[in-house]
Amino acid sequence: MNGHPTFGINFPIRCIEAIKQRRCQFCWQPLGRRIGLVVRPADVTAGYVDEPGMHPECLDYSVAVCPMLNGSMQQYRTRPPAAAERVVSWTPERAGHAAEAFDAWYITPSGYEIAYGPTGRVLGISLADVPVLMKKPIRAAAKPRLSDEDADQLRAVLDLLDPTD
Ligand SMILES: [Zn+2]
Repeated sequence: MNGHPTFGINFPIRCIEAIKQRRCQFCWQPLGRRIGLVVRPADVTAGYVDEPGMHPECLDYSVAVCPMLNGSMQQYRTRPPAAAERVVSWTPERAGHAAEAFDAWYITPSGYEIAYGPTGRVLGISLADVPVLMKKPIRAAAKPRLSDEDADQLRAVLDLLDPTD
């Protein structure tokens, strides 16, 4: 926002404003005839995305500059990035987890519906029964990191296979 990519950073009020006012989360201009959503499998299960939509070209740019979306980051950060480097994704619930798969969904304004929680709180943009013009994979999920225990076991097995022993 304000010309700086902030994908994945929670600014709840700004996010809710963007969703309600149908603004692009990237450039803050009103959304046009094609709306790009960044969707994870978990969002499909939940039935909504909590990130505002984007112009298709803004989505492309976000993918180019966001290390989580362009696949250069394999794991969510464990701590929030400093204000100066807010280009990096961070959400407390996702901290330290392996990167998930992301798809881009392109919808039209008529398919744009706000998802509300039971108390009337804005949850995000509804994915349930939304007519999707196109779905495009952005990145695959990262492989989960091995736990120390699993790594030790793997090392033990590899030692057994080592012909130099
Ligand atoms: Zn935009």
